[in-house]
Amino acid sequence: MQHTYLASQIKVILDCESIIQQPDYQIYWLLTDSRKIIYAEQSLFFALAGKQDSHQYIKDLYQKGVRNFVISDAKYADQSYLSANFYIVDNTLKALQKLVAYHRSHFNYPVIGITGSNGKTIVKDWLYQILSPEFTIVRSPKSYNSQIGVPLSVWQMNHTYQLALIEAGISTINEMDALEDVIKPNIGILTNIKSAHDEGFQSREEKLHEKLKLFKNSEKIIYSTDYVPIGTIEASRSFTWSKSDVADLQILSIKNIDHHSLLTCYYKHQEFQIDCHFTDEASIENIIILVATLLSMNYSLANIQERIAQLQSIPMRLEMKQGINRSTLINDSYSADISSVLIAIDFLNQQKQDLKTLIVSDIVHAEKEPVYEILANYLEEHKINRVIGIGNEIKSKSSLFKMQKSFYANTEEFIADFKNIEFNNEGILIKGARKFGFERIAKLLEEKVHETVLEINLNAIVHNLNFYRSKLRPATKVMAMVKAFAYGSGSVEIASILQYNKVDYLAVAYADEGVSLRKAGINLPIMVMSPEPAAFDKIIEYNLEPELYNQRILASFYELIKSKNLHHYPIHIKLETGMNRLGFDDVDLETLFKYTSDESLKIVSVFSHLAASENEMHDDYTQEQLNRFDRLYAKLRLKFQKDFIRHISNTAGILRFPEAQYEMVRLGIGLYGIENVGHFQNELQMVGELKTTVTQIKKLKANDTVGYGRRGVINKDSEIATIKIGYADGYYRSFGYGNAYVSIKGQRAPVIGSVCMDMCMVDVTGLGVVEGDEVIIFGEDPSINDLAKIANTIPYEILTSISQRVQRIYYYE
Ligand SMILES: *Cc1c(COP(=O)(O)O)cnc(C)c1O
Repeated sequence: MQHTYLASQIKVILDCESIIQQPDYQIYWLLTDSRKIIYAEQSLFFALAGKQDSHQYIKDLYQKGVRNFVISDAKYADQSYLSANFYIVDNTLKALQKLVAYHRSHFNYPVIGITGSNGKTIVKDWLYQILSPEFTIVRSPKSYNSQIGVPLSVWQMNHTYQLALIEAGISTINEMDALEDVIKPNIGILTNIKSAHDEGFQSREEKLHEKLKLFKNSEKIIYSTDYVPIGTIEASRSFTWSKSDVADLQILSIKNIDHHSLLTCYYKHQEFQIDCHFTDEASIENIIILVATLLSMNYSLANIQERIAQLQSIPMRLEMKQGINRSTLINDSYSADISSVLIAIDFLNQQKQDLKTLIVSDIVHAEKEPVYEILANYLEEHKINRVIGIGNEIKSKSSLFKMQKSFYANTEEFIADFKNIEFNNEGILIKGARKFGFERIAKLLEEKVHETVLEINLNAIVHNLNFYRSKLRPATKVMAMVKAFAYGSGSVEIASILQYNKVDYLAVAYADEGVSLRKAGINLPIMVMSPEPAAFDKIIEYNLEPELYNQRILASFYELIKSKNLHHYPIHIKLETGMNRLGFDDVDLETLFKYTSDESLKIVSVFSHLAASENEMHDDYTQEQLNRFDRLYAKLRLKFQKDFIRHISNTAGILRFPEAQYEMVRLGIGLYGIENVGHFQNELQMVGELKTTVTQIKKLKANDTVGYGRRGVINKDSEIATIKIGYADGYYRSFGYGNAYVSIKGQRAPVIGSVCMDMCMVDVTGLGVVEGDEVIIFGEDPSINDLAKIANTIPYEILTSISQRVQRIYYYE
């Protein structure tokens, strides 16, 4: 069982000012995200500073039963909250780390700390697979490796475990010391040093130096002399590997033989071979790290060879796909430990559907850990409607679950009963330990569709949102633009994740877009930018807020509201400042007053739009727009004698005109990973990846031709692949004739001949491509920006052109 701490002990450990009204609370859970309560009464909430001041959630958490709060702003220590305890510290994050460092100090079993630029999570999860036969292991959930994620991971340590695998990630200097304090790894693994997060450091050396701080107290450090100069770490603490140099473990050669790799290695005067199922460079490197780790732990060669041969690939992400009967499906049939189950439930909860079902196997757990109690409680807390439990253990605990439920002894029993179970219009999470083979269940529930897919990384959306938030004053509101199907990414799914991450407003172009968001349960305020009078009734019925931009539209909306005898209906007023598209001019202010001074309409915001905020060349013009906006607003304010929310900046404006953020900004393309100012592209994460597959490969001879009009001329013997994407999917015809290329297995293949309606042909001569291979249309290479340049357009058009028949798959890493 996990340690619990009394409230009175917490006070001593944190050594801080406090208001303790009830010293006997037993603290078992740390809460850093107000949405993730497990047991309210046993939780200690840390009001972390961040994009939002989380002190504001205290009231809500108190109502939900949380009684213990670590805060940095003493004014929140409200004693009228009966029996609540407040711990008042200078820095809540430091307090979290301090508490967990104290917790860590109670355990003597080995802790393996893993850091490096890439591969941390996979090395950790592979070590977990490999070492499980000998050890009961606790590990970081998913990639919980940040300043907050590390303490939450280490907090899971208790006396039932025998080994801990903890990963640590940093993005700039002076971050690692705090993590070292919390992890105190006995054994260290440095995966590699690559370009990730280079921006946060002056040089690679500085980055290396910072990362190595994790190991300052470690007895053994496993790393490659290909990344760490010899002499950096004392030889007595080192276990080194190298592909090019003398090292403890030397890799003499790596051979790829159909879907396998054979590594010839040299260790302690002995040559030996390692055979594995992986051929890509990153996996091979991770496998070498595993071999080095096992050797340093004195595993025998035979044992190492056998375990590496059995390694399975691990999907690093949670994917959401279309399921049968309009359901959505999140499939994780790889693991089922309690922390990963809870994380997956959070993901399920961010989805649009009202109805939610969890299909879950027996949960892997340490002895006596009350995992089914925790699960049942979490499901109830998070209003999951139905649970389907598969496995004898969970079946024996069925009485714990209070929602709609059914249980099966094994996967076969469930499959036999499948036709009798109804799945309809709901979110379904499939979460099972590998041995239950839940991929068979996923197959039954998946909607079979077109193989061309646009994969959307939801973490990246959140990352990008937070990047732009970091450029704003804390009080500035964010209106997220989800018009045009959220720039092609899927309005409901994107709006759900934005709502979960607490943006303030959404904006769509047309009323219908707003209606579908409302139907999917989005309750954020939504501005409609092109409200046609014909859609006014819908706007009102679905509580949408129109942008009104001239007298005609204002008058007709006013008349309707008046006739319905409604009051204070929220509207947004658009001012003309230089875009010369829509908006009230100076002269119309009188009219504006006339229609809005009675009680029918309520102006929520006053705004305008910048015509060229991304372009330095037009900065004088932008400044003139801002001045004009200020002048118009001043007049308006004078007339109305009150303030309104003002907004004018779009994505580029946020970065280039921080003084123009007023009370709100409108964030569009940046959310979707495109930075049009040009200096910050590296700070954003790629959101969309458009993929398809190779349908057929033909060997053609010099002078043969490919496709319509015989426009693809071949001048030497070639291999030509047909791929499933065409202009009807949004792949422009202008990409043909060698203008654009796609990537297959990391290699570029130019488009040959004309792009057809549903497919096109690419030249794959000598690339070793086979039918069924995955094809990247855009992603890392080519990027959306690259394609936009080729087509002589802007990324906005590329994104919004992708047709609706291309399935969107959402995932979460
Ligand atoms: C689309 C749009 C935005 C967002 O612009 P980005 O360049 O994508 O950030 C902002 N305001 C208005 C009025 C828009 O139509």
